[in-house]
Amino acid sequence: MAGRIRSDDIAAVRERARIEEIVGAHVTLKAAGVGSMKGLCPFHDERTPSFHVRPQVGLWHCFGCGEGGDVISFVQKIDHLSFTEAVEHLAGRVGVQLRYEDGGSARPGMEPGRRQRLLEAHRVAAEFYVEQLESPEASVAREFLAERGFDRAATEPFGVGYAPKGWESLSRHLRGRGFTEAELVTSGLASKGNRGAYDRFRGRLVWPIRDTTGDVVGFGARRLYEEDQGPKYLNTPETPLYRKAQVLYGIDLAKREIARRKQVVVVEGYTDVMAMHLAGVPTAIATCGTAFGAEHVRVVRRLLGDGVGGASGVMLSSGAAVGGEVIFTFDGDEAGQKAALRAFNEDQRFASQTFVAVESSGMDPCDLRQQRGDAAVRELVAAREPLFEFAIRSVLRQVDLGTAEGRVAGLRTAAPVVARIRDHALRGEYARELAGWLGMDEVSVRQAVQRAGREDGRPQERRTGPEDRGEPAPPPQQQRPRSDDPVVRLEREVLVAVLQLPQHALAAGFDDLGADTFAVPAHRAVHDAIRAAGGVAAYGALVEELTARGAGTSAPAQAVAQWAESVRESAGPVAGMVTELAVAPLPEDRPEAIGPWARGVLLALVRLGLNRQIGEMKARLQRTEPDDPSYQTTFAELIALEQRRRALQGE
Ligand SMILES: [Zn+2]
Repeated sequence: MAGRIRSDDIAAVRERARIEEIVGAHVTLKAAGVGSMKGLCPFHDERTPSFHVRPQVGLWHCFGCGEGGDVISFVQKIDHLSFTEAVEHLAGRVGVQLRYEDGGSARPGMEPGRRQRLLEAHRVAAEFYVEQLESPEASVAREFLAERGFDRAATEPFGVGYAPKGWESLSRHLRGRGFTEAELVTSGLASKGNRGAYDRFRGRLVWPIRDTTGDVVGFGARRLYEEDQGPKYLNTPETPLYRKAQVLYGIDLAKREIARRKQVVVVEGYTDVMAMHLAGVPTAIATCGTAFGAEHVRVVRRLLGDGVGGASGVMLSSGAAVGGEVIFTFDGDEAGQKAALRAFNEDQRFASQTFVAVESSGMDPCDLRQQRGDAAVRELVAAREPLFEFAIRSVLRQVDLGTAEGRVAGLRTAAPVVARIRDHALRGEYARELAGWLGMDEVSVRQAVQRAGREDGRPQERRTGPEDRGEPAPPPQQQRPRSDDPVVRLEREVLVAVLQLPQHALAAGFDDLGADTFAVPAHRAVHDAIRAAGGVAAYGALVEELTARGAGTSAPAQAVAQWAESVRESAGPVAGMVTELAVAPLPEDRPEAIGPWARGVLLALVRLGLNRQIGEMKARLQRTEPDDPSYQTTFAELIALEQRRRALQGE
C-alpha cells in the first residue's frame, strides 16, 4: 500500500500523544481512583460518567456503550478521520515527523492527509484575513468594529479579519502557498465558477470559526457594503471540516470556563460572543447560521460534565444528577417566548438545565454592552429564569391576574403549557408553582393540567429510547459474561489486575497458570492473548529493555502501555475486551492497598483452580479401584495439590 506510515513512527505518535490531553479537549475528565480518569462519553448520551481513560496504559473505554481503544482510535472516532489522517493529526500536534513506506511524504490525490491540508489552508486564510484588516481598503471593517466597542486588543483573541473585495485575493494567496484549486473549493474558501475558483468571502468582515481544539474549520462573514447583494451573514458551506450542526463559535475560547463554571451561555451572533467574553461572561458561544440543535447539545454536555460539584443544581429535576446550566439569551420578550415555547416541541431531556435570559428592551448583548456597559451584560445572564418557568410566566403576562376572569383565563392558557412538560415529577412541581402564581388552589390547577394533557392527545410519558434519538442502539450485551457470578467476577478482577498491574502478576506467578485456568470463554481468550504476547514475563523484559535504554523511573509505566498494546494486538476479536479490562476502574483506591489487592485476587484464582483440580482428583480416586496402577499416581498428584493449597493459605 503506497503512502503507509512507518510503524515505528506510529508507535512514537502513540507514545508522545498524551491521551488525557487529547481526550480532555473534548471531554472534561476528573480523577477516578488511582491512575484513572472519567467523564461523560462523547460517543453516547449519558448523565453519569462511564467513559474511562487510563493515561498510564494509553487506553480509553466506555462502560456504557462499549467503545474503546487507544489515542489514535479516539481521534479517528471523534473527528471522523481515517487511521492515517488521525496519525497525521496527532503527529502534527506532538511534533513527530512522519516517514512513509514509499519514501516521501508527498502523495498524489486528496486522500490520506486531506484533513491536514484543509486545516492548513484555513490557518493560512485566517492569517491572511487578519493581515488584510490593516489594509486601507478595510477601513469600513475597522469602523464597524470600533462602532461596536471592539478595539484591536479586543478582536485579537477572536482573530477577526477582513476579506478583500477582489474575486481572487485569497485564492491567489493560497495558490501561491501550493494549494490546489480542488483544495480551495473543497475547503469552502472558494466557489467554483465557469472560469475557475473565486473567493467565497469578498468585502466582508470575517470571524474564524474554530473547533474545540482551536483549529480553524470555517469562517463567518458579515456584509459591509451597500452594493453587496448577498445575505447579511455568510458562512462556510458544509465541508469535510465544517458541519454547521456541530460547530459552535467561541467554543475554543470558552471550553475551559464552561467546564469550570458548569455554565454555557448561548447567544446569537459573533459580535455577541465577543461582547459577552469582554464583559466577563467567558462561557458564551453561538451557533453559526443554524438553531441550537441536538448535536450542539452533545458538544456542550460533554464539556459541562455530569454536574457533580457544579455551581448549581436544579432541584426541580426528578432525581437525576443535574448540574450545569445552558442559558439562552434573547433580545426582546417575543423572541424569547417563541423560542421557549418551541422548546416544548423538542427534546426535553435537558430542559431542567435550560434557562432563558431575555433583554426586554430588545438589545442584543453587543448593543447592551455598548449602551449600558459590561455590568449590564453580566446582569442579563444573572437574571436568567428556568425555561419552563419562563414559558409559563410568559403566558401569564398576557392576562390580568388582578381579576377573577384574568386568573381563569391564565389557568386556561397556562395549563396546556404545564401539561406538555414530559418529565412527570417536573410537571407536578410546575402545577404547584402555577397554583401559587395564580393564587388558586392546587387541586383544581392539577385537574386543569390533567384535562389539558388529555385534550392535547399526545402521550405524556413518551419513552425516548436511543432509536428515537437517531442514535445507534447500544451493542448487544448477551455475549458478555454475567457479572453477578462470583467466579466470573473474580476472573475479571484478575485480568484487570494483570493488565494494569503486571508487576504484581509477575511476582504472583501468573505465567505459571495453565491454559484452562479461566472458565469464562471470553476471559480464556484474553488469557490466551496474554500468553501469545509472551505472558507477564514479556512485560518484565520490556521494563529491563527500557531501563537499559535510559528510560529511568518512567520505564515501568512505558512498559505497561507497550505491553498492553501488544496484548491487544494478539487479542483478535477480544481486543475490545482487553481495552475494557485495561481501563476498568480498580476496586481499590488507596495506592498502598493496590498491590495486596492484586496479589489477593490472583491468589484467590489460583486457589479456586486448585480446589477445582482437587475436587476432580478426589472424584477420580473414588471411581478408581485401589489396586489399579493409576490409583497411586492420582493419589500422589492429589497430595501435591493439597500441599500447594496449604502453602498458599500460609501466604
Ligand atoms: Zn459511551
